[in-house]
Amino acid sequence: MFSSGTQTKKILILGGGTAGWMTAMILAKKLNKHGFEVSLLESPDIGTIGVGEGSTPALSAFFKSMGIMEEEWMPACNATYKAGITFDGWSTKPGFTQYFHPFKFRLDEQFSQAFFHSIQMRRKGIDIPAHPSPFFLSPLLVEKQLSPIPHYNFPFEPSYGYHFDSGLLGLFLKKKSAQLGIQHIEGKVEEVLLDNEGYISKLVVEQGAHYSADLFVDCSGFSSVLMQKALKVDFKSFASNLFNDSAIAMPSDIGQQIPSETRSTAMKNGWRWQIPLTNRFGNGYVYSTQYCTPDQAEKELREALGLLDSQVVARHLKMKVGRIEKHWHKNCLAIGLSQGFIEPLEATALFLVQQSAALFADAFTHGKFTEENQANYNDTINGYFEGIRDYIAAHYYTNSRTDTQYWIDCHNNHDGQSDTLKHILSVWKKGEDLTAELRRMGVTKYYTSVSWHCLLAGMGIFPEQDTLRAPHPNERQVNMSIVGDFLHRCSLNFDPHIEQLKKLASKVC
Ligand SMILES: Cc1cc2nc3c(=O)[nH]c(=O)nc-3n(C[C@H](O)[C@H](O)[C@H](O)COP(=O)(O)OP(=O)(O)OC[C@H]3O[C@@H](n4cnc5c(N)ncnc54)[C@H](O)[C@@H]3O)c2cc1C
Repeated sequence: MFSSGTQTKKILILGGGTAGWMTAMILAKKLNKHGFEVSLLESPDIGTIGVGEGSTPALSAFFKSMGIMEEEWMPACNATYKAGITFDGWSTKPGFTQYFHPFKFRLDEQFSQAFFHSIQMRRKGIDIPAHPSPFFLSPLLVEKQLSPIPHYNFPFEPSYGYHFDSGLLGLFLKKKSAQLGIQHIEGKVEEVLLDNEGYISKLVVEQGAHYSADLFVDCSGFSSVLMQKALKVDFKSFASNLFNDSAIAMPSDIGQQIPSETRSTAMKNGWRWQIPLTNRFGNGYVYSTQYCTPDQAEKELREALGLLDSQVVARHLKMKVGRIEKHWHKNCLAIGLSQGFIEPLEATALFLVQQSAALFADAFTHGKFTEENQANYNDTINGYFEGIRDYIAAHYYTNSRTDTQYWIDCHNNHDGQSDTLKHILSVWKKGEDLTAELRRMGVTKYYTSVSWHCLLAGMGIFPEQDTLRAPHPNERQVNMSIVGDFLHRCSLNFDPHIEQLKKLASKVC
């Protein structure tokens, strides 16, 4: 494909959603110095998907690598901080009807041994407290409506993600891309021309103009104009693992305080997100049309938000959940919704965009576009998709709700789960060393052992209460009041979330 030499090599990205602009910036930053020129072609008439308002901590690395400060991008995107996610109502087990998935602070390592030890005892049938939340700082910060940004002299590094307005983020990235020298072209692609060997040679737009490049990047969203439509790369559905295929999004008013968490609340046939921005809540219901109609889902969401009689418009979306078999094929790379999507329970889509673009750029800077290189890249990205899918599927599979057929079927969906997930759950239930097993399987790069422990302990996957025994005097127990006192004192180093956001906004002025 890319012959060596001094001639400029062209990369053409199709699609100007968040995936397109982020990919353009990552590739331009890493590859311009190797003689590449990045352009982006998009159709304003088609527009972007316009949802996707939560991130993982990885987004902060993206902005840092671009030299963009929080005070520049966050106020421009009505963004807030995210310390983690509360899962509400996924489990019915007494004491476990709510849990928090924290973005782990360095500080949390102080208590990680205590955390693993307590959970291990409970897994072995000893009656001691083993809810994850009291071991972590983030849920305490959220409860106290604090931001996850510590005072400057706090000795432990924080970890947090963000909430943002996806439309504003797209506009912000577009502006920044221009500063990086990325050329912006408007037009709707009507035809994709292939050469004799099946490589893409040109994109033809509606007015007849055509664009050629050495590498094409498909960021055209669910329509996957290049990879799935033109190159016919197969799509592997995750429908057997994850039943949800639709979503509804609608805003609601934000109150006086702005939470520093995403809330994920179980509904009759799925779950709803609540994401705080500086000017509104973004809400959405992710559900399965096998179990309810879009109208029923909208009514249920409106009821939950107190918006039954409101004129606020609900957006209905279809979700294609799964991944393509090859993310890099011939002279085409697919990034974003065009390469696949795992439902937004852990807000991982932009993380996958970052990983896909950065790993591709690394593959290039290491010099070779060999078939082996392509195959390795595809295996790695497929590993990410499946690793994240398994973690998300575990939420459904371990639920204990019996109020609707949806939740019962999710729980009974043994055959739909991957062998990896079945094995993880079997190790957990047998009380074996899960951390060692996750490491042995090589899956901690997708979710850490702490995340798996938070999920499984948080859902109350322990021996039944009536089979537990009291601890023997020689069985060491964690003194939770020491943990609680330490975390409380740590929390004094954090300001109210709303104050932190005001401080950021004032730096802009
Ligand atoms: C319900 C829901 C909730 C989500 N929540 C989250 C979340 O919390 N966190 C997260 O990280 N992600 C989330 N996502 C995913 C997130 O929305 C996307 O990953 C992100 O917006 C990137 O989308 P994209 O750029 O791939 O596609 P799009 O935004 O759809 O952009 C596609 C682009 O391609 C262009 N295009 C398409 N066809 C053509 C053509 N023929 N010619 C020219 N241009 C064309 C369009 O004009 C557009 O510019 C969510 C997704 C859904 C469905």
